[in-house]
Amino acid sequence: MDLKFKTTKKTISYEEKINRAKDYNDFNNLKKGDIGYIEPAEFAKQDVYDEYVDFKCLDCGYEETIEGDIVFELFDEEFDDYPIFDCPKCNVGRFVPKDIFEKIKK
Ligand SMILES: [Zn+2]
Repeated sequence: MDLKFKTTKKTISYEEKINRAKDYNDFNNLKKGDIGYIEPAEFAKQDVYDEYVDFKCLDCGYEETIEGDIVFELFDEEFDDYPIFDCPKCNVGRFVPKDIFEKIKK
């Protein structure tokens, strides 16, 4: 996937990975040996990261970092080059990824 805007990746800690694997198993009611069960210690050996996108409002300049999961749920990269959301502060502004903001403002 070739994105036209920047995302920030933050790797998560060992403890966080263990917790996420446990939460996943609990949530799906999976026990050791079940199909789909995630072995926490194995999961923790992988590189797992959270993705974020820094946004800035083209109109009022408000900035906020939004989780990548949320951004990609609301935005389809096949149809648009970058997401444009309603600004959560001024409501009327166009809230775009910060690097896009800088390109437009240049
Ligand atoms: Zn705004």
